[in-house]
Amino acid sequence: MEDTENFLDTVLSNEFDYGTGVWSSVNDKLSIRMNSFGEYETYIKKEKEVFTEYELDSLKEVNCLLSQFNETDLGKELFSEIESINYDSRIGYFQNLYIGHVAEGEYRKNASSGGFGTWIFTELLRLGYIDSVIHVKKSTNSDKLFEYSISKTMNDIIQGAKTKYYPVELSEVLKIIKTTPGKYAVIGLPSFIMELRLLSKQDTNINDRIKFYIGLVCGHQKSTKFTDLLGWQCGIKPGDIQSIDYRKKLDYGPSSSYAVEVQGLVDGKMETVVKEMKQIYGGDWGKGLFKVRASDFSDDVMNETADITLGDAWLREYTKDNKGNNILVVRNTIIDEIIQNAMAEGRIKLTPTDSDTIQRSQMSHYRHSQDELGYRLYKLNKKKKWIPTKRIEPSKDISFARKRIQDLREKYCELTPIFFEKAMELDDFEYLKKQLRIYDLEYSFFYKLIDLNRKIGRAFEILNLKNRKS
Ligand SMILES: Cc1cc2nc3c(=O)[nH]c(=O)nc-3n(C[C@H](O)[C@H](O)[C@H](O)COP(=O)(O)OP(=O)(O)OC[C@H]3O[C@@H](n4cnc5c(N)ncnc54)[C@H](O)[C@@H]3O)c2cc1C
Repeated sequence: MEDTENFLDTVLSNEFDYGTGVWSSVNDKLSIRMNSFGEYETYIKKEKEVFTEYELDSLKEVNCLLSQFNETDLGKELFSEIESINYDSRIGYFQNLYIGHVAEGEYRKNASSGGFGTWIFTELLRLGYIDSVIHVKKSTNSDKLFEYSISKTMNDIIQGAKTKYYPVELSEVLKIIKTTPGKYAVIGLPSFIMELRLLSKQDTNINDRIKFYIGLVCGHQKSTKFTDLLGWQCGIKPGDIQSIDYRKKLDYGPSSSYAVEVQGLVDGKMETVVKEMKQIYGGDWGKGLFKVRASDFSDDVMNETADITLGDAWLREYTKDNKGNNILVVRNTIIDEIIQNAMAEGRIKLTPTDSDTIQRSQMSHYRHSQDELGYRLYKLNKKKKWIPTKRIEPSKDISFARKRIQDLREKYCELTPIFFEKAMELDDFEYLKKQLRIYDLEYSFFYKLIDLNRKIGRAFEILNLKNRKS
């Protein structure tokens, strides 16, 4: 019993729960709800409910921070037998790597980047590989903006385009999949895809019915407060937002300079406001305002257990085209064949690429999620806190400046929700900025220091080169 309580204390304290909704589908003593921080959390339905060892084991096995399987183990099980498969420790298994966009139809125009997040579903449906798509759309409930839902027609699938930096969970759609036979494809962030893969090892209906797993790259998950933060700066107060486009493409500048479009009530009247992300306080993804804390303990940058992983091609040679481009990591033979055929027919425009280029497109993500995860684990270890077993070992082996950046990111994660709540109470957005100013100053100081250090290093390299030549 003590073990049970320790286990639940450790994980259900929400610090290591991704809030995917998969746990509550495994055990009916558990459910999922949105907490006051705007994050999904799993909770025990009745107080002091007793779990058997068997129940605890099955819960552990579907949580990607607790399972005995990591992404490399599962990737190996899923893909290593495929003929001509490649492996890269930073990317996982892959058949082919590409960069580009959808050329046919309006996919790219209506999408966040190159449009593959929608196109791949319509192709799988058109060719009869699936009959249902599990993706994220505008919610039909007024208490949330977005939710996972199931689409069965081309038109419905197209309605689900665009990135939603908003918490979603799978418990309701999992109930439907379990009771309704069909051929499903699902899209999700790395923790969601990994937990679904773990669930499919236990649940034969899930295993038989979900035919394709489409993965997104994910810097980190956001709470609902991130949406409130964006809306408030567009003049629409928290609670008054009706809809939001987090990735409105602009017809000038690089694709990385997108805008946010918010629709909601201003003095009782419906208004639509567009603001460039660079004008928004908190738009810096590195600082990670309103990050779901468990995200800091994922080392799965490339959604390694997905059949195909999609992300943005954050590379200067591609961002100069402001219409947007995807990176694609293809692991599934059927999907690769669909892609090759569409390429030959000119319906999509893709350039084969290499693993270095794919990694370069997510450089900061790799630095935070893999290179510096060891330092976050080391800090928890030092405080004698429980740590999940990751593919990266605890280590303090990073520069002083990078340590400070990591420390400050932890502070942002911890303090922003508290200051934001107070700002709402005071009806004063400036309060949040004032409280975070000291951290903002230190954060930009250390970035300037790192930049200066890099420039000095480069200057010495050039000098050495010149000396050697003369
Ligand atoms: C929280 C989050 C963080 C991200 N971080 C990064 C990053 O650091 N680097 C990077 O390169 N890319 C990141 N992405 C992915 C990127 O924003 C695009 O979604 C991706 O490039 C696909 O774009 P597209 O034009 O092909 O898709 P579209 O054609 O626009 O389709 C998007 C698809 O994603 C689904 N979707 C939208 N929101 C969610 C969600 N929250 N959960 C599950 N499915 C969803 C939609 O239903 C749709 O099927 C992130 C996405 C999210 C949701």
